Amino acid sequence: MKLILKAVSQKYGSMFDGLECDDAVFCDYVNRKFDKFPECVTGGYMRFEYNKKLETLYVITEYETTRKLTKEEEQQVIDYTQGQWSDGIGEGFEQQPFSGEEQWNDPNPENFNKDVVYNPSPWHNGQKVTLSYEGEDPDPYNTCRVCGDHLPEGMGRSNDYLSMNIMPREYQDKYADTIQQPICAYCEDEKPDEYHKEFMRKFYKK
Ligand SMILES: [Zn+2]
Repeated sequence: MKLILKAVSQKYGSMFDGLECDDAVFCDYVNRKFDKFPECVTGGYMRFEYNKKLETLYVITEYETTRKLTKEEEQQVIDYTQGQWSDGIGEGFEQQPFSGEEQWNDPNPENFNKDVVYNPSPWHNGQKVTLSYEGEDPDPYNTCRVCGDHLPEGMGRSNDYLSMNIMPREYQDKYADTIQQPICAYCEDEKPDEYHKEFMRKFYKK
């Protein structure tokens, strides 16, 4: 399903409606070893959308995710995305010589200065981000919650989420809304999530 981050952009208005930055994918810049960023999230395209009624330009970055995220993971994606808006992709985009001439809808065309970069800045101080999901989770009970691989029923997977009752209260609370998916055998060994690690500790009572 889609994971959509939206916030008010800075500068200008309707002329940037529908403007896309399709040559940069946000997830390509995640360092999967060091950055705190959920494994199940991929993609990430930035675009601008103008709301006529509110006379406001919004920046939107759209990812794909194989499951809903925990609150902590949602915050990680928000932080990462705002980082890209301000210093990474967003900044690079802002500095591209965007040909604004045809979009220039100032009533005084002589105000247009071709030496000025008119790209909207996707980030500003104190910016608030909303996060939402769109589309159905295709088959959550048969999809690895870490890598998103589809798993045949009962094969090569751990249904650790079914034993929620052996987990400490804090894990039950933290994962209650989101954990409804198994973890595949590969992810169990190679990239277990926090829940699975704790589950193994509890299960084998080390
Ligand atoms: Zn997996």
